[in-house]
Amino acid sequence: MIDLIILNRNLRLRDNPALYNGSSRSNYLVIYLYDDAYWHANGKSTRQLKFSNDCLAELDQGLKKFDSQVNIFEGSFDDLKVWINNNFDDFVIHINHCTDIGYFRDGFLKFKDSFPGKINIYDDFGLQLNNFDRDSWSRNWNKIMNARMFGNPKKSQYKDDVKLSNFSNFISKFNDSFAHLGSIQKGGTSQAQMLLESFLSERCKDYRVKMSSPAQSEKSCSRLSPHFTFGSISIREVYQALNQFISKSDNKSDLYSFKKRLYWHCHFIQKLHTEPELEFFSMHRMCDQLRSDHDDELIDKWINGVTGFPFLDACMKYLQKYGWINFRMRAMMMSFASYNLWQPWQKTSPLLAQLFTDYEPGIHISQVQMQSGVTGINLPRIYSVTKQSEDQDPDAIWIKNILPQLRDVDPKLIHASELNDLYTPQIVDLKSSARDAREKVWSIRKSIEFKKEAAVVYNKHGSRRKRSFRR
Ligand SMILES: Cc1cc2nc3c(=O)[nH]c(=O)nc-3n(C[C@H](O)[C@H](O)[C@H](O)COP(=O)(O)OP(=O)(O)OC[C@H]3O[C@@H](n4cnc5c(N)ncnc54)[C@H](O)[C@@H]3O)c2cc1C
Repeated sequence: MIDLIILNRNLRLRDNPALYNGSSRSNYLVIYLYDDAYWHANGKSTRQLKFSNDCLAELDQGLKKFDSQVNIFEGSFDDLKVWINNNFDDFVIHINHCTDIGYFRDGFLKFKDSFPGKINIYDDFGLQLNNFDRDSWSRNWNKIMNARMFGNPKKSQYKDDVKLSNFSNFISKFNDSFAHLGSIQKGGTSQAQMLLESFLSERCKDYRVKMSSPAQSEKSCSRLSPHFTFGSISIREVYQALNQFISKSDNKSDLYSFKKRLYWHCHFIQKLHTEPELEFFSMHRMCDQLRSDHDDELIDKWINGVTGFPFLDACMKYLQKYGWINFRMRAMMMSFASYNLWQPWQKTSPLLAQLFTDYEPGIHISQVQMQSGVTGINLPRIYSVTKQSEDQDPDAIWIKNILPQLRDVDPKLIHASELNDLYTPQIVDLKSSARDAREKVWSIRKSIEFKKEAAVVYNKHGSRRKRSFRR
């Protein structure tokens, strides 16, 4: 009997249940499913693929120590099913669960159902896949985080020649498409370990304050998000390292803030797992009536950073280059699109997701909906671009660095976006658009019908921990 270990987004050696359990008989084959259509589906992009390939490269090297390697299967889950049935009689499949976009989920569920009794699916992060109960979710999450980690895989003795590409042949074909992505984060477990160590030992100092500034957060946030997305380190490993470190740290309150966010990671992904329709519909369905039309030209200006608001445009250009920006700026960018421009989140969300190297559908879609006022269980908050510009970059140094054409302009004029011929005209009036948006959102929230539906949403998705999700 052979064990077939299928990899998707859990690209690490340690604390990888599919790899650990699948290797226990020492007769295993590791297969990475590369599906080109997946990388073009809702919110996916080349920068994410590059990061994922970095992680795979390190995993491939790591597996060599265990007489194994990453074999690449190119095609869909359907194609993989046919290939497995044609090539093996006696096998067990091992795969980690992954909460992802509809394209992945549909393929994965069909694949799973094709192998009754021959497939083992392992839990992912702190998600609770079966018999999930919101009231005990938080307690169970703690248990999962404190459980013993899975060790390295066993050596493989599998010798048969399978006709799949090896990793070095596979990776070479991406050289050209990755050439312009030199500024995005590099993937791989060693990078994740370095980030974790430097964050715990020094970078976390004043994390709680610095996380809101686009300039300071670059260093003072952990920057682990793409590593969680592609699983180059497990949340449990980070959680346990943090717990060991926290008692001797001088930055306890910063580290407690960080710990909370590890919980949020799973809390948000659980929502998409529970209700996959959230990829396309608002959590509170009545909110889908709010924004029925869209304007491609406005959306285009927003995503390309030519809105006439220097701080907002600088954030977008920074994100385009580096593939990451801090929480507060993500929230402001989304709030601008949904409230000031009044565009449906279903149109804007995938465009923003494509720019994030760390695109994690469960977190992204929940946050997009929160920042668009469509969950029904969070109070709508409209970020003022002017206020964020003044608060987060008072001297406009960060803005000028990204938009050098404003080098000699008074910061006050930059914050107020009063720049006449010096800069792109404003595409919307900030104050009146925010006022209109507030009126429209609150007009539907008042009805009894809305409140009834909101209570149902809370039962399904609301956190039972008392805390705010704002920063
Ligand atoms: C509109 C919008 C879209 C977002 N899309 C994504 C996304 O696609 N992928 C993603 O990982 N995060 C997303 N976030 C949440 C947050 O902005 C990022 O997790 C964070 O900026 C990542 O940087 P970091 O790893 O340095 O964070 P840190 O501050 O160091 O936090 C550590 C980890 O905690 C988790 N975390 C932090 N903040 C949140 C949060 N508010 N909700 C859930 N988990 C959180 C992340 O896993 C993060 O890596 C989004 C936020 C908004 C407002």
